Amino acid sequence: MVYDVAIVGAGFGGLAAAADLTKNGHRVAVFEASNELGGSAGKFEREGYRFQSGATVGMGFEEGGVFDRLFQRLELPKPEMHLLDTIMDIHMPDRTIHYYRKPEKWYREIERVFGTRASSIQEFYQEVFRVGAAVDELTHRLPVFPPRTMKDMVRLLPLINKSSVKLLPFMTQTVEDRLKRYGLEDHRLFRIFLNGELMDSVQTSVEYCPAFLGCAALQTFHKGAFAVKGGLASIAERLADYTRADGGEIFLRHPIHSVERKGSLFTLKSKRSKEFQAKKVVLNNSVHNLHDTLSEELGKQSYIRSSDEKEKEAWGAYIIHGGVNHTVFEDTDVLYHQFIDPDHPDDLHDGGQFLLSLSHPGDSTMAPQGKRSFTISTHTSVKPWWNSKQYEADKEQMKEKLLHTIHHYFPSFKDNLDLVLPGTPVTFNKWLRRKEGKVGGYTPTGKYSWADSYSIRTGISGIYQCGDTVFPGAGTLGVTLSGLMVSKEISR
Ligand SMILES: Cc1cc2nc3c(=O)[nH]c(=O)nc-3n(C[C@H](O)[C@H](O)[C@H](O)COP(=O)(O)OP(=O)(O)OC[C@H]3O[C@@H](n4cnc5c(N)ncnc54)[C@H](O)[C@@H]3O)c2cc1C
Repeated sequence: MVYDVAIVGAGFGGLAAAADLTKNGHRVAVFEASNELGGSAGKFEREGYRFQSGATVGMGFEEGGVFDRLFQRLELPKPEMHLLDTIMDIHMPDRTIHYYRKPEKWYREIERVFGTRASSIQEFYQEVFRVGAAVDELTHRLPVFPPRTMKDMVRLLPLINKSSVKLLPFMTQTVEDRLKRYGLEDHRLFRIFLNGELMDSVQTSVEYCPAFLGCAALQTFHKGAFAVKGGLASIAERLADYTRADGGEIFLRHPIHSVERKGSLFTLKSKRSKEFQAKKVVLNNSVHNLHDTLSEELGKQSYIRSSDEKEKEAWGAYIIHGGVNHTVFEDTDVLYHQFIDPDHPDDLHDGGQFLLSLSHPGDSTMAPQGKRSFTISTHTSVKPWWNSKQYEADKEQMKEKLLHTIHHYFPSFKDNLDLVLPGTPVTFNKWLRRKEGKVGGYTPTGKYSWADSYSIRTGISGIYQCGDTVFPGAGTLGVTLSGLMVSKEISR
């Protein structure tokens, strides 16, 4: 059997590409190393709980959103989900900020929290919504970006119009530059707040975040944050089911060890010397792994140099999956809680800021009766975790730090824990084969850092890539878009 397209990795990027390619009439095979679908937005089960492997906040399900469009195109019903009125509560020692979805309500909260500077912050947000909408308009057209070939350039031309030209200043400035425009760059509290939101979505802070990416990310929260029944893995399952139902195949526990070109076809080698053949290949196992997956000969054909890739910055994640008695959180209906360390508010990693995601109390797929499952995650540098001597001690120390902070705000938390499973970049490497445990794609490092992004092109004829290390980057929305870009390009 020769497949039209072989996809390495069943993350959201790979599964979106698989479903869309199937819709376009291609015979696809998806090879997933682990036993689960969805990768960093997948799940695993233990002792009656379902835990989300990384991603918890569902976005893009509102009318016209990325998943709404995709599911409509595939004529698939969306799983049950709750649209959240409060995106998250942000806990600081002296206040809690309620981050509301609806702009009017959010503007009232801005007045309550930021007082005399509220009108400047509201103006900043009006710009965020305007620029974010213009970015969406472009990304929904699925351009190959940044352009790598003459054809890519030519295909970008029709996208140049009045609205897209207005984006240019936001491609040559950072979010901090925009804050200066509103006299907000020195507003400490607003900066701390924005950095928290940007870290969660773009993996960087105001001074390094290209303005257009920052605006796109910030406005996305307000279009709708959703708690999907069964977690985001339910989305992965639907995309996989769609692919299977239309003749595609999904091979779980099938790591691809190498991809080679043989004549006009590619051969993918998996466990126990199993071989599969395909006319085209899509790599969804991150650019970090590109040179480990491709044969040396193919690797040499790519413009992506292993040395350049290694120099790019990327975060890892420290994560705790756990179960807790429902009584601890019965006074709040907010599912997502961000915590800012009062002593280190500018450390945006290693517990300086982190997110607690609770399962919906009504979602019986996520926890046994009377319990809730939760995920705690904070950014961390990957390298120190590979120092084996310190590993267990560091892991324990970080666990205590995070649990202790939550306990400070929810005083019965630590006494009501049922199960606590900490994980580090070493864990992400083990279960999801993320190189060195790097997750979340590359960290933007300045106003022009977007120009350094990798597009869906690997530079090798017939081999494409999608996922969080490819433009437009991380998040289930970003990687789904790159998966759809690949499908569009292959289906031309
Ligand atoms: C802690 C954390 C929290 C997050 N929170 C959110 C959130 O709330 N909302 C949101 O939208 N996004 C969130 N994200 C980001 C989001 O999860 C990711 O950007 C996205 O899921 C990455 O998808 P991907 O397609 O790039 O691939 P991945 O999810 O990395 O999947 C790649 C797949 O490839 C498989 N694989 C690897 N190597 C091989 C091989 N050789 N052969 C076969 N298979 C292989 C892996 O097992 C994996 O399943 C979060 C991420 C993390 C880490």
